Amino acid sequence: MAGRASLIAVVTTVGLAVPGLAVTLPAVAAAHPHHCSAGAHTLSPPGASVYPETGNGGYTSMHTLVHLVYDAFTNTFLPGNSVSLTDRAVQCLSSFSLDFERKSGNKRAGPDMTVQSVTVDGQPASFTFVQPTYPGDPNGQDDPNPAAHEASQTDPVGGPQHNPLPPACSPELTSSSPNSLNGTQCPANKLVITPARPIREDSVFTVTVSYTGKPGVHNDGDGTTEGWFRAPDGSFVTTEPVATEDWMPLNDFPAAKPTYTFSDTVNAGKTVIANGELVSVTHHKANSLFPHGSVTWNWRSSAPIASYLVEDSVGNYHLTQRTADNGVTFYQAQDTTIKAKQQKKNLAVMQLQQNITEFESQFNGTYPFTSDGIVIGTPSVSFDEEMQTMIAFAGGQIDPDTLYHENMHQWWGDNVTEAGYNLTFYKEGLATLAEFLFSARQAEAKAGGPYSTKGQAAFQAALVAIFNAIYGSGKKFWTGAPSNPEPFTLFNGDFTYARPGIAYIALRQILGHGNFTQALQQAQRIYGGRSITEAEFEAVFHRWLPVNSAACQTRLSQFFTEWFDTPYPQGGGKNRPQLTGPGLAGPGFYGHGGCSSAAAQPGPSTAAHSPRITLPRSEG
Ligand SMILES: [Zn+2]
Repeated sequence: MAGRASLIAVVTTVGLAVPGLAVTLPAVAAAHPHHCSAGAHTLSPPGASVYPETGNGGYTSMHTLVHLVYDAFTNTFLPGNSVSLTDRAVQCLSSFSLDFERKSGNKRAGPDMTVQSVTVDGQPASFTFVQPTYPGDPNGQDDPNPAAHEASQTDPVGGPQHNPLPPACSPELTSSSPNSLNGTQCPANKLVITPARPIREDSVFTVTVSYTGKPGVHNDGDGTTEGWFRAPDGSFVTTEPVATEDWMPLNDFPAAKPTYTFSDTVNAGKTVIANGELVSVTHHKANSLFPHGSVTWNWRSSAPIASYLVEDSVGNYHLTQRTADNGVTFYQAQDTTIKAKQQKKNLAVMQLQQNITEFESQFNGTYPFTSDGIVIGTPSVSFDEEMQTMIAFAGGQIDPDTLYHENMHQWWGDNVTEAGYNLTFYKEGLATLAEFLFSARQAEAKAGGPYSTKGQAAFQAALVAIFNAIYGSGKKFWTGAPSNPEPFTLFNGDFTYARPGIAYIALRQILGHGNFTQALQQAQRIYGGRSITEAEFEAVFHRWLPVNSAACQTRLSQFFTEWFDTPYPQGGGKNRPQLTGPGLAGPGFYGHGGCSSAAAQPGPSTAAHSPRITLPRSEG
């Protein structure tokens, strides 16, 4: 919250050219009957230190029209390129902000873009770029103290000046040294827009940002890059967690989920791959921007999309589509510069997607979107990503294990999105569980298949073996709490993947396989299309605990604290979660602390064959 702004009825902003040091002067208080103020320049709560600079308050994001005018040969957004974001004000707004990284510290492949103009409901609006301020700064988000605008991996900032304040942004690392940029100034990536007149609370407004130049990549807090990668005569977009702002201005926060329309005009012969469903393709004659003609690709997603899951790759993609018997449209796209032999191998894996989706539906419930798809690009990006309904595979290849992982994200991360970066483990753990389930499914197939007793036993035995092997980890495996990550380890630590992954195996044993599946499906029903907090997520599992006694509920709370929220000293053994589950290594769950149940012993069935049980409590 901006403490200062809320005390002032109307503010007039001057000195806009100085990043982070905009001076606000109170105007005549009686000039406006309502209390209007600047929207918050972050959606992160006070104390947040993982990408605290992202997101924008004072409004909710409803719909975004992406209107790229893109020359794929020169990798340039041309005149006419714009995005239009339709939002609803949740307060009277004198100004509001977006996230947009026009230039990054990446000199080789970073963006170089310029904002041409900004309008609000068609009326010209003034704009400037300011630095973020650490969330909760009592001096307000235009705090004149430079220390309030510093980058850091850690909280407090520290750095050469021993800054005792929290970080205002995560560092854009240019090396593998996590703390190398602690104490440096955050870049001015907050695009602050001041409309001609304040925007009334509850009103719906559309802001259009016209911009040109070269999109690019962002140096991430873990030293990798993400964003708009250069592909042969085009691009390949994979952006988690924050680099969508390196190709378009937006409300760059996972829980901000507008619906999307894409209307991209590109060189004739190029293909646009985006989220949702392909609506139309229109060819145009040559003009001054496109001397050899152009083509407009229209895609639409009526399902809301989190900030890091927006796909918009342009290039030499060969796109096919097919509607399955269950009505879901499957898209497949590969860069045509991938060698023919590899394309054939890739195709064989892509053809598994419907079957994988049906398998994962047995746990998660009905597939949440009207389409699903895969795009395989050529850049050797350091990660593949679960772009909503259009999973992005890098490096010219795809493998089944990763497809199980990314496809699982369509439910976890995509449909039900983490409320903040600290909850990344929740969805990565479930996607890791999908890899375990794939492994178990292979064991099941070898032993006789899902309809045989031996097959089902093999499925269960495989999951138990995975749990036991990983639970035996020592060294530093247990030293980080999954819910308290640093940017540097967010996407490469056991804390985010394997530890929560096996926590879900334990949870499945504690709840019983049928109840575990019911809990997952209930979370999808309640939070689908929205985001979920850690407390909300855990509450769903509490509802499905088969023994609803105070002692067992307390124990389940303790289980979540141990597995998700507790860092342990090195070594494993006593230094790891002490609650596991029936049939697993470790002390188990029932039979201690007043929590016992003979009825709670789960059988060996897979989710596919679990009996449906009635809802223990009403939903909602
Ligand atoms: Zn993942």
